[in-house]
Amino acid sequence: MNVLIHNGTILTLKNRKIIYQGAVAVEDKIIVDVGKTTELKRKYRRGYEKIDAKGKVIIPGFVNTHQHAAMSLLRGYADDLPLKEWLEKWIWPIEKLMTPHDIYIGALLTAIESIMSGITTVNTMYHYTPEKNEAKAFADAGLRGIIGHVCFSWRKKEDKNALENLAKNWHNKVEGLIRVSVDPHAPYTVDPEYMKGLRNLRDKLNEKYGSEKTPIIWHTHIAETADETEKIKNAFNVQIRRGIMEYLDSLDVLDEKVVAAHCVALTDRDIAVMKKRRVKVSHNPVSNLKLASGISPVPQMLTENITVSLGTDSPCSNNTADMFDVMKTAALVHKGVNKNPTLLPAEKVLEMATIEGAKALLWENEIGTIEAGKKADLVLIDFKKPHLCPLHSEISHLVYAAKASDVETVIINGKIVMENRKITTVKIDSVMKEATKAKERLLTKLKANVK
Ligand SMILES: [Zn+2]
Repeated sequence: MNVLIHNGTILTLKNRKIIYQGAVAVEDKIIVDVGKTTELKRKYRRGYEKIDAKGKVIIPGFVNTHQHAAMSLLRGYADDLPLKEWLEKWIWPIEKLMTPHDIYIGALLTAIESIMSGITTVNTMYHYTPEKNEAKAFADAGLRGIIGHVCFSWRKKEDKNALENLAKNWHNKVEGLIRVSVDPHAPYTVDPEYMKGLRNLRDKLNEKYGSEKTPIIWHTHIAETADETEKIKNAFNVQIRRGIMEYLDSLDVLDEKVVAAHCVALTDRDIAVMKKRRVKVSHNPVSNLKLASGISPVPQMLTENITVSLGTDSPCSNNTADMFDVMKTAALVHKGVNKNPTLLPAEKVLEMATIEGAKALLWENEIGTIEAGKKADLVLIDFKKPHLCPLHSEISHLVYAAKASDVETVIINGKIVMENRKITTVKIDSVMKEATKAKERLLTKLKANVK
């Protein structure tokens, strides 16, 4: 399908360029031209579906670099608990009872919620099952994503089979919409030998199914809480002296294909290692605040030119897939704790939510900016709202004032997946009904299990 979006304000996110009275021409999946409306209207006359973006701001879609999409079924199930207790007593026991269908429905619900808040790419870590899974959910919703399979020391054989199946069936599939990743859960649940094994497996899967342009990445949690070194010591009898990144580097697992979620409890030495190995960061400020994990040293990492992107984390540690919330929190929290209002300015935060996210996922050759040759992942935001009036700066409004509900139309891979807030790919009502049924089945099973 060919589309011409015209009369809008385009935040290209390429060299911070803004085009007023701008237009974007899309042919099939690709952005073919970006410029002034007067010029593009002359060039692209017939055969283009026209979208009038008057009063709207057009941005490249948000890239959410840390999510566990299927967990929407557990949203609000257990809140206000420390991470260890939350995981071990509440989340893991009920997750064990989730069926492939539950995982599919949970991920579909998150896919819809993500699109409705302007997110066009999601990096998700969950349990992969061949029959039904998060990959199918994203494909059905039309959402771009990297689907991982989370690995633990206690199920090495299952993990290996799951990863092989995931890579074979889903990597660079659905017209390039879906990619996959190898996801060691965390350094305290994956032993040192297995950590090395998973790095080797990732490299082998890349040789078989990946390419330089479409790499299979490594998505993991690192340094989420201050007691992580203690947890690693207790689990595997490993002494960590100068930080977790340095420990992982001693295993030879860190490189530019690593996306590390959280990175809260880092030493200066850790930051130096991350810079050297070009490790990418997913900063999840809402989740870190909710679980009281601490505050990631983001300003310091940015000074070191480390790629820092933004993630929502799961629907039960956030509890929404709302990138506006995450942007505003990221912009505020570092100013507050450092008593410095110049840290993380709005323009930087918007980059972290878009182009830096694309870089973190090694997908910046196709997404993250609005420019000719890139995939058409575009979000139209309605600025004709009292809370976005009057207008001094589009960027300021996006980070500090706009809401997910201001997102009006979303295009992913050249396809309109939401038009005037109506999802075009799946039926929202039946997904919500299925999600409610799945939640009830889970609670019934949990009760029976406890007895
Ligand atoms: Zn997580």
